[in-house]
Amino acid sequence: MTANQPSRSKSEQLYEEALKHIVGGVNSPSRSFKAVGGGAPVFMKRGQGAYFWDEDGNRYIDYLAAYGPIILGHAHPAIAEALATAAASGTLFGTPTEWEIAFARKLKAAIPSLDKVRFVNSGTEAVMTTIRVARAYTGRAKIIKFAGCYHGHSDLVLVAAGSGPSTLGIPDSAGIPVSLAHEVITVPYNDSEALQAALERWGDDVAAVMIEPIVGNFGMVAPKPGYLEQLCRMTRDNGSLVIYDEVITGFRFHYGGAQNYSLFEDHAAIEPDLTALGKIIGGGLPIGAYGGRDEIMEQVAPLGPAYQAGTMAGNPASMLCGLACLDELAKPGVYEGMERLAIKLSDGISDLAAAAGIPMTVNRIGGAFSTHFCDHPVTNYEEAQDTDSEQFAAFFRGMLKQGICLAPSKYEAWFLTLAHREADIEETLIAVKNIFNMHTK
Ligand code: PLP
Repeated sequence: MTANQPSRSKSEQLYEEALKHIVGGVNSPSRSFKAVGGGAPVFMKRGQGAYFWDEDGNRYIDYLAAYGPIILGHAHPAIAEALATAAASGTLFGTPTEWEIAFARKLKAAIPSLDKVRFVNSGTEAVMTTIRVARAYTGRAKIIKFAGCYHGHSDLVLVAAGSGPSTLGIPDSAGIPVSLAHEVITVPYNDSEALQAALERWGDDVAAVMIEPIVGNFGMVAPKPGYLEQLCRMTRDNGSLVIYDEVITGFRFHYGGAQNYSLFEDHAAIEPDLTALGKIIGGGLPIGAYGGRDEIMEQVAPLGPAYQAGTMAGNPASMLCGLACLDELAKPGVYEGMERLAIKLSDGISDLAAAAGIPMTVNRIGGAFSTHFCDHPVTNYEEAQDTDSEQFAAFFRGMLKQGICLAPSKYEAWFLTLAHREADIEETLIAVKNIFNMHTK
């Protein structure tokens, strides 16, 4: 194990400075180290491929991938070229461009449930608008969501569970009126009975059931066999819409949405009415998109009464980078390559944990996985919460010290990218072994 703690004095100085000017020193709370014992987060200066370097010159293997979008790795030449085109030809016109059409076509070809799409600037916007559209279409107000699924920071989805399916939500953040929280019902993931009970209780008031079809926000958690089929059937029987939040899962496991992924046999039975996308489809630039069936999307202005707009929406730089990213992902073998490395790494971690007598559950789907310090399966949020936070914090810090960057939260996934190589996996496994060996001493 690396004997000395690498110096991060510049990150520490920058953090002190940032605290004076940026609230909490970070522009997104997930970047702070609050959940892993506090202190200065690492300030990165540049990235290349699977690595980034901090302000002190330390190199890290990156499994954070910016919380998902950087699937090509850092500074990919195709993205650099797309950005150069946008820089040279104008970054914003406030008019339609041909690139928007090209991109919409590409998304529709990859995700057949999209008859029409609209581009926005973030996953938050995409999700927020699907809710508005579902409410406009159904004329109903309430939304059912699932405990532990994160859908961005718009008011309605920052609402936590009540104590059961017949209890309405309470705000999860200050600044959200209780009256608004009363429009949200939260039920456990992977539990069809709880959903059925909520639908029976709130029936005609439910505009939509919103779900991450494969969860990426309390680790990687797959739906139990048949769960999505049941969810879609029960929701439609109730006259409500199914919304998939594919902000993480879109183009993560294969070229398309989780809704078309080989994990599921009957794609027709699990197709949503509306889908929200973001992250990967921007190739590292700000983006979101939502779409769905024609008659539902026709609710959106200027065709219909549901308003949604955006000065930056569909901007040339995001469109060009998104198109370039999807072109790279469409090349043969790219997903198989990421999955192969993810299998090697996640199996390696499982084996090392078992050898060291450390209870660990590893959930892997395609090229992404999560590590949970616990001795039980993780199939819902409650089980993901019931894991050892201190052990994770020590693991996170031990990995960072050895130049391996994970997300500073026990609920986040490890993401493989096109840029990772066997040697990175081997280096990562040595780092894991060093930590687990210390544990057994
Ligand atoms: N939906 C899911 C599933 C997410 O994981 C996230 C962000 O992590 C969002 C929505 C919000 O996306 P953004 O951060 O781009 O607003």
